[in-house]
Amino acid sequence: MAHNISTPTQALSLADIERLVTRVFRVNGCDEANTAALTRTVVAAERDGALSHGLFRVPGYVASLRSGKVNGAADPQVAASLPAVVRVDGDNGFTPLAIERGIPALASAAKKLGVAALAIRRTYHFAALWPETEALADQGLFGLACVNNMPVMAPFGGDAPLFGTNPLAWSWPRPGKAPVTCDMATSAMAYGDIQIAAREGETLPPGCGIDADGQPTTDPAEVLAGSLLPFGGHKGSAMALLVELLAGGAIAEPFSDEAGAADNGDGGPVRGGELILALSPEMLAGDEWASHCEAFFQRFAAIQGARLPGAARHKMRLDDATREVNSRLLDEIEALAH
Ligand code: NDP
Repeated sequence: MAHNISTPTQALSLADIERLVTRVFRVNGCDEANTAALTRTVVAAERDGALSHGLFRVPGYVASLRSGKVNGAADPQVAASLPAVVRVDGDNGFTPLAIERGIPALASAAKKLGVAALAIRRTYHFAALWPETEALADQGLFGLACVNNMPVMAPFGGDAPLFGTNPLAWSWPRPGKAPVTCDMATSAMAYGDIQIAAREGETLPPGCGIDADGQPTTDPAEVLAGSLLPFGGHKGSAMALLVELLAGGAIAEPFSDEAGAADNGDGGPVRGGELILALSPEMLAGDEWASHCEAFFQRFAAIQGARLPGAARHKMRLDDATREVNSRLLDEIEALAH
């Protein structure tokens, strides 16, 4: 969601953001490997303009380190149980390091076999998902990732939360170009965006949520106290259900309601699994796959008014100017560095 940020902001370079979050994670108990992986994730989100998943998440990360829920010195272990299945035990850490360790084995298996799956267990995901799918697309592979989280969203037609906001991301490789990347919550609006809308005093578009009595509301605070709604009615609801099954049922990790019930409520992420699939278009379609797809993307580009998903974020990525950071959030993060 594009926000009308009305609260004061401060300009920070990406290098300043990197220095700040590195200090915060180190001071709060992360070892070097976890600090570096988490910092890369936060900086990439700020770089690409993903306001709800960069600095905004830092207080939550720290809360979970301080409460002892998440292991800042986690040492994720990669195991290939079957040729096409890679497993990572996240050692109760945040997910970025587990992802970085698992992706090479996943990519290697998909290049050999055409398709492979990575099951990440015992981790805490609090970020956007495109870093993992783009890491696969950079190697010429199609990547798809999903995670569930805490129960904040009602199934279509229901009046109480059961699902997480259950994001699903995929990236299609385009050799020599940025991939096509779609990374979306299956809620009509991401939870972080509703929190930011509440902070900024914004009104939500209709259809984002219901209040605690199950009644439709456009007040973000009422939605946070009630339930978010899936995008696209029953269709988005079915996709959120699919994410529960893939990221929970398929890899023996908690469903969102189970994760929420087991959580200590520290404000950080709940435990959740991540399933990442990789597929090699080269092995499935042969040598001509890229030119075939490029011709299709050319026809797509010729349609007036349409743009490929990911294009806005990739454009933002090329801008190395300073980023505007909410001053109150910045004060809060700076205080966490001491
Ligand atoms: P958006 O609705 O902003 O965007 C979803 C996708 O649609 C993006 O890939 C975006 O590309 C694309 N898109 C947007 N507008 C257009 C358009 N006009 N034409 C074509 N494509 C378009 O994302 P969400 O708010 O749903 O999700 C935000 C983030 O939150 C995601 O990164 C997600 O992973 C993360 N998240 C993480 C959770 C977790 O538990 N870890 C939970 C929920 C969400 P572009 O970027 O180019 O605009």
